[in-house]
Amino acid sequence: MHRSHRVGWLRAAVLGANDGIVSTASLVIGVAAAESPHEAVMLAGVAGLFAGALSMAAGEYVSVHSQADTEKADIELEKQHLQDDPEFELHELAAIYENRGLDADLALKVAEQLMAHDALGAHTRDELGITETMSARPLQAAIFSAASFAVGAALPLAAAWFSTGRMMIWIVAGSSLVFLALLGAVAAQAGGAAPLKGSMRVLFWGAIAMAATALVGRIFGAVV
Ligand SMILES: [Zn+2]
Repeated sequence: MHRSHRVGWLRAAVLGANDGIVSTASLVIGVAAAESPHEAVMLAGVAGLFAGALSMAAGEYVSVHSQADTEKADIELEKQHLQDDPEFELHELAAIYENRGLDADLALKVAEQLMAHDALGAHTRDELGITETMSARPLQAAIFSAASFAVGAALPLAAAWFSTGRMMIWIVAGSSLVFLALLGAVAAQAGGAAPLKGSMRVLFWGAIAMAATALVGRIFGAVV
């Protein structure tokens, strides 16, 4: 079964959740390492969840929206070209099919028939590489990213909520690494890649992020 068509959404969901876990766990650990009271740690974590989710949404909206604008402009331009010089466009399309392995005669014939059926569709698909499923939907992408981030961020927050004192750092770090490993394995499985490799990579960088903020919290906690 082909998997690449759903890898886009899956990838976005996994990236969002990974981000949510790593950034919130790091934040909580950093604040906790500075020997802050439990309420301060929770407050920082909740604020981090909302800040991160909103920032993901805004970033995703802007990036997908500009991609959609680019695609729209490209399609408009192609429409104009098809009107102005259909003969040139026919040979342009035929050349693309020839490059993909068809004989010159057959390529021309295919181009003619596809253009008779839906000229703009054939050009946007085969020349511009824009397919309908890839067409950008910015609002949906923004909500989706923010939600995946929030779901990821809720995990270390829950771990922090249920732990107290000096154990909090270890409980949050340990459970977050487990969440990251599970997420990496699920993502790799669904994407058809090797599960172990995917989780190891995420685990490694997640652990580094948490250790770094723990260190920062420790240093600044001592200073402030
Ligand atoms: Zn064209």
